[in-house]
Amino acid sequence: MENLEPKTNQIPERDERKISFGDATVHELKTLLTAIIVSAELLAEELTSNEHSLAARLTQNIIRNARSLDEKLAHFSEMTELLAGDFSFRPEPLEVAPVIRGVVAQLYPIARSKKQSLVVELPPSLPTVKAQRQYLEQILLNLLTNASKFTPEGGKITVRAAKENESLVIEVTDNGIGIPADKHRLIFEPYYQVNGGKGSGLGLAITKFLVELHGGKIWLKSAPGQGSSFFFSLPLVNHS
Ligand code: ADP
Repeated sequence: MENLEPKTNQIPERDERKISFGDATVHELKTLLTAIIVSAELLAEELTSNEHSLAARLTQNIIRNARSLDEKLAHFSEMTELLAGDFSFRPEPLEVAPVIRGVVAQLYPIARSKKQSLVVELPPSLPTVKAQRQYLEQILLNLLTNASKFTPEGGKITVRAAKENESLVIEVTDNGIGIPADKHRLIFEPYYQVNGGKGSGLGLAITKFLVELHGGKIWLKSAPGQGSSFFFSLPLVNHS
């Protein structure tokens, strides 16, 4: 019988205090940031009569940068938790189709706002994987958010899954801007962004960490102007 006890690392008390201090700081900063974002959004509404005025453009700038900082903070606290070993890993037998559909539904409003189509193509049946639902959701959300973020208006995002040897391979494909081959390895490094984007540069580092935590692999096929396909594998339930 396999041991499914949570794999929580032993953290000395001092480190625990340090992590909760970090969390408290992030929480404090996010609260203040939310107030800034909400105020700037209200200000933007007031200024809609002249969208091209300097005041309106500067307000949009404040909103964009504040949202970007908000995303950075969220990813930053996720990353510090993972690096500190401050998490538990409890993989269980999991049906992936409903998880995929749930995350796709979550991303739907964002894709719709960019007039992107979001398609799920799954075979009639898929084998059960051994994974932790919450982490699988996080992996999919990161890949789908990127697919939408780096695909222009009107683009297409497709999610597929298929059994391959002793794994299940899930694919997130977009027809967006693509990534040059010499950057394929670098994008999984913390803080790396191909064009110094507005995100956190941590999403793919966290995604890779979570895939590998399950014993899976992550890879991509992409070229500039040709879109991107990200693939990751998960172990099947009866194979470990
Ligand atoms: P972030 O998205 O916050 O910048 P990530 O770690 O998620 O950070 O991604 C790192 C970089 O990889 C991005 O800044 C972007 O340059 C590139 N990238 C990730 N996904 C895609 C994609 N689907 N299409 C094009 N580029 C991508």
